[in-house]
Amino acid sequence: MPAYLASWKASPCVFVSSKSGLMPNLASDGVVCAPLQTFTEEETMLKNMVKKFAQERVAPLVQKMDENSKMEESVIKGLFEQGLMSIELGEEYGGTGASFFSTILVVEELAKVDPAVALLCELQNTLTNKLFTVYGTEEQKRTYLPRAAKDMIGSFCLSEAGSGSDAFSLKTRAEKKGDYYIINGSKMWISLAEYAGVFFVMANTDPALGYRGITCFIVDRNTEGLQIGKKENKLGIRASSTCPVTFENVKVPETNILGQVGQGYKYAIGMLNGGRIGIAAQMLGLAQGCFDHTIPYTKERVQFGKSIFDFQGMQHQIAHVATQLEAARLLTYNAARLAETGRPFIKEASMAKYYAAEVATLTTSKCIEWMGGVGFTKDYPIEKYYRDCKIGTIYEGTSNIQLSTIAKSLAQEY
Ligand SMILES: Cc1cc2nc3c(=O)[nH]c(=O)nc-3n(C[C@H](O)[C@H](O)[C@H](O)COP(=O)(O)OP(=O)(O)OC[C@H]3O[C@@H](n4cnc5c(N)ncnc54)[C@H](O)[C@@H]3O)c2cc1C
Repeated sequence: MPAYLASWKASPCVFVSSKSGLMPNLASDGVVCAPLQTFTEEETMLKNMVKKFAQERVAPLVQKMDENSKMEESVIKGLFEQGLMSIELGEEYGGTGASFFSTILVVEELAKVDPAVALLCELQNTLTNKLFTVYGTEEQKRTYLPRAAKDMIGSFCLSEAGSGSDAFSLKTRAEKKGDYYIINGSKMWISLAEYAGVFFVMANTDPALGYRGITCFIVDRNTEGLQIGKKENKLGIRASSTCPVTFENVKVPETNILGQVGQGYKYAIGMLNGGRIGIAAQMLGLAQGCFDHTIPYTKERVQFGKSIFDFQGMQHQIAHVATQLEAARLLTYNAARLAETGRPFIKEASMAKYYAAEVATLTTSKCIEWMGGVGFTKDYPIEKYYRDCKIGTIYEGTSNIQLSTIAKSLAQEY
């Protein structure tokens, strides 16, 4: 027997758990250690409510919205009415007052039915509402948050034609004139611009300082000089509008600066870190929705005298994809729980977003193959999921950018 085994046998395990089997597992800081797929009562209720809403109010409109590249008013209205555009906002602003994890579950449930609708909800909750709550003044919160809970969509304007991954090389300028600023420049790829009532605009107030000059401005839609361009004709998430937005001598009062002058880059990084968990949830829901449509078909479709699900060649592929989906879900939920309990989560958020986008690509591609010819037609929703998933590797940081973020964390750990 090797020496290390002998010494192990000679010294019996002395650890004895002090708690009864019925007590919850508590971490040293008092956090309950539960399986990742354990939800609070409130989270379960919200998840079930959203599932019903998505099936009854969104599903019948999905194909029409995709074909017309237009979100139906009734869907937007429904999201507000159900409190899904203000999930984490406090009741004093008319919000739902639920947790960040609830937002993740909501985005996942909506994406099972329509990833474009899920994006609308994701951006409002993880980016624009949060910019107000984390960095806004009391006055800004009182002005905008009750409307964000009721009927006003927010839009986040960072990217430009010349600055995507290298976002902070942006060229939009804001020049100080007394107690207001004049913004000039042009933004590209701005989600929800078609419907938004308020825009968070990243502009440089002092180009000599480089990215340290980037400042975030709150700009109302009807401000003179703000122009929303023609929406892009996209491959996927077509019901979610994506437009260029230009600013020509747009006059914004100093009081509409969000937080501090020159801190906009920090706010953008902070919001996108959390937002990535939302995009992971979108990709996860998308992949699960596609899988849920496909598997019953494989059980019903008969070839060579039996259901195609019963061929081992099919079962192994299906089991492989189901396992990848489970892994993406665990990464996403773990990142969300880390974020909501105030723990470091940047690496985990990037891993979740990167992996969930990969899994969505694999799942939707496989589902088309498993459905055969009909999967390739618009008679089934599979081809739409296949088109919708590609964006997961691009926005809120491309897959390469996620890998760079993960590698940066690893470099510090070792
Ligand atoms: C549908 C849609 C909605 C969007 N919504 C918004 C929005 O609401 N607000 C907003 O501000 N922006 C939005 N964006 C912009 C989005 O965030 C950018 O498209 C994204 O950051 C990538 O930038 P890019 O398109 O300029 O690609 P590029 O940055 O030009 O990247 C092209 C390729 O080069 C790779 N690459 C670039 N730099 C590196 C590097 N350092 N290392 C390795 N590889 C690299 C990338 O990974 C990618 O594969 C949206 C985009 C789309 C398509």
